[in-house]
Amino acid sequence: MHFQLDPETATFRDEVRAHLERVLTPEFEERVYRSGVSHDHDFVVGLVDNGYFAPSWPPEFGGQNRNAWDEQVLKELTMRFDAPVYLSETTRMVASIIQQVGTPEMKDRILAAAMNGEITIALGFTEPECGSDVAAAATRAVRHGDSWVINGSKMFTTNGHIADYIFLLARTDPDKPKHKGLTMFLVPTTAEGFEAQAVWTLSGERTNITFFSDVRVDDQWRIGEVDGGWQVLALSLQDEHASGWGPHLARLLEHAEHWAATAATPNGKPPIADRDVRRRLARAAMETEVSTLLQRRCVWMVEQGEVPVAEGPMSKVFSTEALERASQDIVEMVGPDGLRSYLEPTAPERGRFDHTLRFSLGTTIYAGTSEVQRTIIAQRGLGLPR
Ligand SMILES: Cc1cc2nc3c(=O)[nH]c(=O)nc-3n(C[C@H](O)[C@H](O)[C@H](O)COP(=O)(O)OP(=O)(O)OC[C@H]3O[C@@H](n4cnc5c(N)ncnc54)[C@H](O)[C@@H]3O)c2cc1C
Repeated sequence: MHFQLDPETATFRDEVRAHLERVLTPEFEERVYRSGVSHDHDFVVGLVDNGYFAPSWPPEFGGQNRNAWDEQVLKELTMRFDAPVYLSETTRMVASIIQQVGTPEMKDRILAAAMNGEITIALGFTEPECGSDVAAAATRAVRHGDSWVINGSKMFTTNGHIADYIFLLARTDPDKPKHKGLTMFLVPTTAEGFEAQAVWTLSGERTNITFFSDVRVDDQWRIGEVDGGWQVLALSLQDEHASGWGPHLARLLEHAEHWAATAATPNGKPPIADRDVRRRLARAAMETEVSTLLQRRCVWMVEQGEVPVAEGPMSKVFSTEALERASQDIVEMVGPDGLRSYLEPTAPERGRFDHTLRFSLGTTIYAGTSEVQRTIIAQRGLGLPR
């Protein structure tokens, strides 16, 4: 196993970093935060124009035929810079599923437009009554000839108010066992009967509750087999579960180190002179390193043709819980000033300690809660009984 980047990937990383440093100005960061939306069309166009939107895809889809390591450094950097890529990521994830199981017509209609930033796709899995047990989805799709009529609601449809499509999980046969009566659709948000209402989270992010009231879609918007939705969804959940959040920790650490080296104290010495400050920074630094290695192990496995079924969840659980631990610890280290608002010019590090603490709390919930990830590790990684 190796964790090192080869020279070509290191060059690619430097190019991407230079691009992000150029476009992610403090004014841009402020605008994105105030909007609560992790998406910016011009930013996406910049990624597409440079071949950074989906570098491992072939050139006809704007890619560069790059490898999994190149994708990984791009992911690490966009996270490290807190770039507004959430909607791009869900779009790319669904595009990749369409590439695997979509009809030729669906591929023609969606793939090129998704990969050049013209269309966007949000995820509609969770419902007000079920999230972890996503197979219990109750949103109904009933067939009428060549079309489907959809009724129900979805919770936390992040970016559902601006996306062009919702990748929707719906129940098509209520009489079959719950995993066997589900079907996936791509629902245009322009369809009559679709509505998105804002739900604001602790971190300042906008997500949505979405409603589907007699939404009619043609059968051509179905993805995969009728009642075969669980297999299609599994492709997406696996992708989500394999996410690593170490770069957010790295960013927090960078600010904490800067604060420790420069903040004024009553005794005239910088905080780093205090042994307790050094201990807390060292712990965050170790957990950053472990998070990076756990995530890179998944990339290495993918490169070997293996699926990181349990290793992905290990990376997700460790990195998100480490982010929570470090955010809490660093706010305690900085003291009350650490809770001054994000982007307030006089707050230490422009309030990033406050923001990361609030932001970290959601990371152990979405893309599979820590409890759900631990169950996957126990059952599929360690072979423990259900
Ligand atoms: C900011 C944010 C953005 C999101 N964006 C999206 C999105 O774009 N699209 C989308 O579809 N969803 C999205 N989600 C939903 C997210 O995936 C769910 O919140 C998550 O899966 C948990 O589901 P739930 O909220 O229904 O909680 P529940 O499933 O009700 O869980 C409540 C608690 O019980 C625990 N629990 C549940 N089942 C078990 C079990 N079997 N064993 C042990 N413990 C268990 C959970 O771990 C949790 O602690 C988002 C959520 C948030 C907070």
